[in-house]
Amino acid sequence: MPHAKHGLRLDLRTLILVLCALTAVVMLCASYFASYRVQRQLLIDHALEANRVYATKLASITETFIANALQQLTYSASVQGRQQSDAAALQVETDRVLGQSMAFNSTFVVDANGVLLAISPAPLRHLVGTRMQTPGAQEALREQRPLVSTPYLSAAKNLVVALSQPIFDTNGRYLGYVGGSLYLRERNILNSLLGEHFHQDGSYLYVVDRNRRLLYHPDSQRVGTVVEGNALIDQLATLTSGTRQLTNSQGVEVLAGYATVPSAGWGIVAQQPLAQTIMPLSPLILNVVGTSVPLALVGCLLLWWLAMTIARPLWQLAAGARSMDRVGTAERLHRVRAWYFEAAELKRALLFGLNLLQERIGRLNRDAQTDPLTGLGNRRSLEFSLSLLAAEGRAFSAIVLDIDHFKRVNDNHGHEVGDQVLRRLAELMRRCCREGDLLCRTGGEEFLMLLPGASLEVAAVVAERLRVTVQDTPVEPVGAVTVSLGVARWDGEVGSEPGEVLSEADRALYRAKQAGRNRVVIA
Ligand code: GH3
Ligand code: MG
Ligand code: MG
Repeated sequence: MPHAKHGLRLDLRTLILVLCALTAVVMLCASYFASYRVQRQLLIDHALEANRVYATKLASITETFIANALQQLTYSASVQGRQQSDAAALQVETDRVLGQSMAFNSTFVVDANGVLLAISPAPLRHLVGTRMQTPGAQEALREQRPLVSTPYLSAAKNLVVALSQPIFDTNGRYLGYVGGSLYLRERNILNSLLGEHFHQDGSYLYVVDRNRRLLYHPDSQRVGTVVEGNALIDQLATLTSGTRQLTNSQGVEVLAGYATVPSAGWGIVAQQPLAQTIMPLSPLILNVVGTSVPLALVGCLLLWWLAMTIARPLWQLAAGARSMDRVGTAERLHRVRAWYFEAAELKRALLFGLNLLQERIGRLNRDAQTDPLTGLGNRRSLEFSLSLLAAEGRAFSAIVLDIDHFKRVNDNHGHEVGDQVLRRLAELMRRCCREGDLLCRTGGEEFLMLLPGASLEVAAVVAERLRVTVQDTPVEPVGAVTVSLGVARWDGEVGSEPGEVLSEADRALYRAKQAGRNRVVIA
């Protein structure tokens, strides 16, 4: 039951298959993972760079806009400086600047004491003559230079950023300033410029001043609020342009590109959520998997075939090794196609071992049935032959012989010489019989010849020939030796024992001894 014993053991084919399958899975997963990482990084890098370029572009547009707006105010300041005492002319010039472009939501002129001299548009005129207390106004008065203010609440309660130019007379005396304001929470040039650039991929844009206050944000509710907890915005004042992957104040991981507007100290950040950027990855990887799986299956089939081809000779050799004791194993081993080195070596070794085994068994069998002194058969071989003849029901004759006065040979010449006589007799027996006869040494100096198929007459002739040959063949230093022989026959009849014949032959031999030895007696 070798199968039951090794039932749980894996075979080589399964092992190779498992190995191949594992390798394939590991390789596929590794390549999927690698391609996922590479694609992901590509998308991220691309998004970061696109945002940086976008932010830089918008920063330069904003810079241009501010320079332009300040330029308009410069011209207006020179005009207003010449007509400081003409209220109507001041108002006309203020209206002109507002109407000239879309740069401002309101325009105004203020004297050196901070009193509003003229303002556009018309609904704000009721403020003329009041003293401006807003932070923007105070800053302009204090600084007396071209200025982009920080956001503040205007006298009309708008959240504004004001641009201003100081007015000087020809003697360089400070006369006040002209200004224009942007209403951050209403439609202004800034959100017109920035808000139109909405992207499909969830990217958006915001602008902060150097105090982290939002000047523009797509969520208009947040305009004017200060952004806390955003590492990029915290550092933005010290940066010029670049990219950053960060978690924003809302806890969302984003890819940001940024640039600053130097004249205003504003930072422009274009960003998109990381999740949105890498969204196209999943279908992409699925696509890769979908494309590669059929190929992998074909590869697996090939591997399976190869595994079978590699395992087959070993499997056949193993089967041969399991049944070394059975007939036909050698032929089966010969038929194994050992097409690679290890299998060929194993096949060679197995065949060699099998040969050796069979030779050894044959020799043991022979030894077990051979008398070592004479090389004739022993009792075991006699019994084996008798059983074969009995089974076949084949008739035979038996000649039993015993050396006469052998004790004397031993006594006079010693055991060694006695053994030599025994060997010599065996030779003579061989000479007197045919192939197919069985010769045995059944006891010390007693022998037996089985002549299959021979009649009693033929056996008697053989016995007589042997007797004469022995008598006429002297053995040195003993001289002539004689034998007595008894002959009997078994006719192959069913029911009768072939062993009986041996007793009959023994009795005939006894009679030969009684009758004076050196003779043949037939039962
Ligand atoms: P007989 O004519 O009655 O047969 O006289 P015998 O002396 O041959 O008497 P028996 O057959 O009883 O003799 C047996 C002797 O054969 C006893 C023993 O010394 C001798 N013998 C038996 N086996 C061997 C053997 O293997 N080698 C030698 N050298 N002698 C043996
Ligand atoms: Mg004897
Ligand atoms: Mg004897």
